[in-house]
Amino acid sequence: MPVRDERSRPVGRHVHVQGRPVESYPALPPEVARGSVRRVTVVGEEILGRPCQEVTEFGSPELSALIDDMFVTMYVADGAGLAANQVNVGLRLFVYDCPDDSGVRHVGHIVNPVVDLPHPENRRLLDDLEGCLSVPGAGEVVSRTDHAVVRGFDKEGAPLVIEGTGYFARCLQHETDHLIGHTYLDRLSTRDRRDALRQMADRREEVFAQRAIKAAGLGQSISRGP
Ligand code: ZN
Repeated sequence: MPVRDERSRPVGRHVHVQGRPVESYPALPPEVARGSVRRVTVVGEEILGRPCQEVTEFGSPELSALIDDMFVTMYVADGAGLAANQVNVGLRLFVYDCPDDSGVRHVGHIVNPVVDLPHPENRRLLDDLEGCLSVPGAGEVVSRTDHAVVRGFDKEGAPLVIEGTGYFARCLQHETDHLIGHTYLDRLSTRDRRDALRQMADRREEVFAQRAIKAAGLGQSISRGP
């Protein structure tokens, strides 16, 4: 999911890393410096339409490297969240760097996440503009609950619980949707979906060009096409 305001990334004083408050945190997470930018898959590619597989091996260098690559790819694409199948890896994990609606910045990764939404009676739905790094250049209003809890594991296999409100709750729901093979387009009316695809057709080249510039700034390049 893209950052809400592309001009600024939140550098608030209140930061939660892996679900826990920390004293301070750099604007760019350390993973960004370690990772290599990967190509972001685009809606229509098969991997975005099928459920991802559970991660069964924790603590491996490959899993750490994947998370590093996902972080730098998310940063280059001005993302607030990125799922593994968006870098063409069909595994159940996502990364995020996203503010909630009380100004807390949330940064981390979660493996094999399961989302836990409030009971329907206690659910408050918020309509807000939503986009996706795999639908470059498009945005549509989507209704989401304003609170979400996600349970899963960190890359070493330790249990992890992440709780989000507002835009971060939206991000948690958006990214867990990816892992079951859905994008936000699946939540839209036929008319809105068509409109989103039209926006993507109009703006995708511009978005790809911006990502290439940002990757070049890190001394990296992005491959084109699947
Ligand atoms: Zn997305």
